[in-house]
Amino acid sequence: MNISESKRLFSEAQDYIPGGVNSPVRAFKAVGGNPLFIKSANGAFLYDEDGNEYIEMINSWGPMILGHNHPLIQEAVIKAMESGTSFGAPTAKEVEIAELITSMVPSIEKVRMVNSGTEATMSAIRLARGFTGRDKFIKMEGHYHGHGDSFLIAAGSGAMTMGNPDSPGVTSGTAKDTLLAPYNDLDAIRKLVEANPGEIAALILEPVPGNMGLCLPQVGYLEGLREICTTEGIVLIFDEVMTGFRLSKGGAQELFGVTPDMTTLGKIIGGGMPVGAYGGKKEIMDFVSPAGPVYQAGTLSGNPIAMSAGLAMLNELNNNPQVYNELNEIGVKISSGVKEINSDLGLDYTVNHLGSMYSLFFSNQTIQNFEDAKGSDLKMFGKYFQAMLKRGVYLAPSQFESLFLSTALTDDLIGKILAAHQESIKEIHS
Ligand SMILES: *Cc1c(COP(=O)(O)O)cnc(C)c1O
Repeated sequence: MNISESKRLFSEAQDYIPGGVNSPVRAFKAVGGNPLFIKSANGAFLYDEDGNEYIEMINSWGPMILGHNHPLIQEAVIKAMESGTSFGAPTAKEVEIAELITSMVPSIEKVRMVNSGTEATMSAIRLARGFTGRDKFIKMEGHYHGHGDSFLIAAGSGAMTMGNPDSPGVTSGTAKDTLLAPYNDLDAIRKLVEANPGEIAALILEPVPGNMGLCLPQVGYLEGLREICTTEGIVLIFDEVMTGFRLSKGGAQELFGVTPDMTTLGKIIGGGMPVGAYGGKKEIMDFVSPAGPVYQAGTLSGNPIAMSAGLAMLNELNNNPQVYNELNEIGVKISSGVKEINSDLGLDYTVNHLGSMYSLFFSNQTIQNFEDAKGSDLKMFGKYFQAMLKRGVYLAPSQFESLFLSTALTDDLIGKILAAHQESIKEIHS
């Protein structure tokens, strides 16, 4: 595989951009080798600057759930461009998307649009603090909520991959209000609540975490969190930046039937444009400025091009609920295929799967929290990643990420992915 143009670009990029990339995980540090510079994408495929073709298993870290360059989204963006790119004033599209989001996501009665998932979670925590008049909040080890200061404590995803979960620049004053608990452990939450009576504003988590690799909630876990938060007056926040509009049209909360007080969204909501959102109960959301005292603003928030892309995406998902059955079938075919191939070779690696998300862990243990995930063989993962890439399959370049499948993966492509898996897994064990 010739990647000389990607190599040249990466070398030049490092002179002008820190580490050569605008988001750390893209640099391939966890798996070694040279990151690929992408020229274009279409349907299930990525094309790099050297003209190589790859089958997509990340899909821009989630947003391209219908595959790349979907005609409906492309058309909506082009049409919106003809009317101007930004006004800094209210538009009809913002009303339309807000109505649509509240109809799709069970917990959301009112919603505020922002420009990224990071902005959504930062704003949600500020609002929960303003609403409750309390300072502390609970987050789960290995869960990622963007790069806001107070979340960069035992954060998953890139922060985990880069080996500096506690980033320099986050003050100890900020860190002391973030309380940590392991995922899937209700007793740990009860203990934190007991030790900090009347002081906890919020509990935020990925209901189905994907940023330490995919883990699933144990039966009754989300319900248990809901009960504790209701009893203690703690604002329960589901960070559904990843799972929103992916696990079902109403996200993990709809799938598991547990309704949080607030929800943060991103990724799919923008159809590939930089969009995030936070929403929830009316009485909480009406605390946001200018309705209430908690300040939050954005020059480009609700941008008309971004809203048009998001509307095209959400309408398509909302109008075609069978999409989620299709995605689940694709997920089942790939994850069960991988398991079968592994077991034929006498390998017992853990595969976690839900809908269109899945992770292969290089570990024989059950993986249901951060401690478990950290026990994976990262060297083996790196070799596997390179072996798959060589065969034209583009995986997330870290063990601590979920894969995101799209409707563009046909049976033919799934066959190719599984064939590549079989060759790769053999190769790395030979
Ligand atoms: C990606 C992600 C974020 C951050 O979103 P950005 O748009 O990258 O700022 C927050 N929470 C979760 C669960 C995510 O997966």
